[in-house]
This record gives sequence, structure tokens and C-alpha cells, in this order.
Amino acid sequence: MKGDWPSVFTAWAHLQEVCQKLNCEIAVFEHGDATADLRRLDPIKAIHLAEELDVPDVLPVAFYELSRIFDMLDHKTQLYRSWFAQKLSQLSSRNLAKVMFGRISLRGRIREAVDSCPAREECPSVSICQHGLSRWWEVLKSESFYDTDPFLSLRKSVDKCGDIAEREVCRLCRLHTAEYLRTTRDQIWLKLPEIFDLTAVVSPDWGSPAAK
Ligand SMILES: [Zn+2]
Repeated sequence: MKGDWPSVFTAWAHLQEVCQKLNCEIAVFEHGDATADLRRLDPIKAIHLAEELDVPDVLPVAFYELSRIFDMLDHKTQLYRSWFAQKLSQLSSRNLAKVMFGRISLRGRIREAVDSCPAREECPSVSICQHGLSRWWEVLKSESFYDTDPFLSLRKSVDKCGDIAEREVCRLCRLHTAEYLRTTRDQIWLKLPEIFDLTAVVSPDWGSPAAK
């Protein structure tokens, strides 16, 4: 179970890649054994099992995954939404509150971090780079940064840093920005227990490779 809901960011990111590949294959074939694996990764079922079997360390990721489903609802069919609403009714009101407040808290933290992304202070053309970075953020945010999963957008933005034109932001400031985003991503990941009000139940070293 811990393998399906890993607390270490790199393990979770790897799992996302595998699931994405699996989803693509399902979209092509629309049947097969893979659907059984997807059902196994049901966050509501995971929350129930974690509470029943006393495996609290899987909860932060399960709550986060559940909050992501809300982020994607706008892009889903009515049939899917009805199915999801029915699934949600299996969740206790206490857990539902954790998802809803956690989702707002997660988005707030990401917004705050993204809005305060600095240029590199030692840069000789810091004002040009600062201006270029601000423009880049505005474009990025207008590309539905917050419309879907903002944590995923934050992760993708690390890669997108490399696409900024040299004349807009110097290489050192781009590297600095990528590092800032990477650190922000890792710090926010480690805060998932706090964000979803689970610090009282998870291991104190949740998210560190040693806690795996
Ligand atoms: Zn610069």
C-alpha cells in the first residue's frame, strides 16, 4: 500500500509517469487488465484502508490525489461527476473537510511562492531579468496554471524555465529560478501532512527517503 501512495516525492513522481502511460494505453485500447490497477489507486478506498489498517503515512498523498480530482472536474463528463459525487458520499464529513481546506491551503501556498519568485540578486542586469521573469510568470499563469492541479503546474514550470529567451532573462537567473521552483516544490511536498491536517497521525519524518 505504501508503494501505491509513496511519501517520497521522487517515488510519487515516478508513479505518476507510469500511471500516465497506463492511462494513455487505456485510452487507446479501452479495456484490459490495466483498469484493475487503476481501481486499486482509488484515493477514497486508500483513505478507508489506511484508517482501518493503521497505515497513516499513505494519507497525505491519498488526500492530495483526491484534491486533484476536484481540480480536474471541470474537464470531466457529467457521468464522471455523478460517479465522483457518489464516491464522495463514502467519505466522512471530517475527511471531506480535510480535502476541501487542504486543497485551498495547497493552492494558497503555491500562489504565494510563485508570486514571490525572485531574480538572482548578484545578477548584473537584475532589473531586466526581474522584468523578464515577471512577464514569464504572467504568461505561465494565464496558461491555466491554477485551472488544473497547481502542484503539477509548479512541477512543469521547473522544466519550462529552460524555454525563457536569453534576451529576457540571463542564464544564471534562469538557473536560479529553476532551483527556486525545485526547492519550493520539495518544501511544499513535505508540508502535505500539515496542509491536509494530518501532522498528528503521520511519521515525523514523513517524505524523507529514510521514512520509506
Ligand atoms: Zn539575470
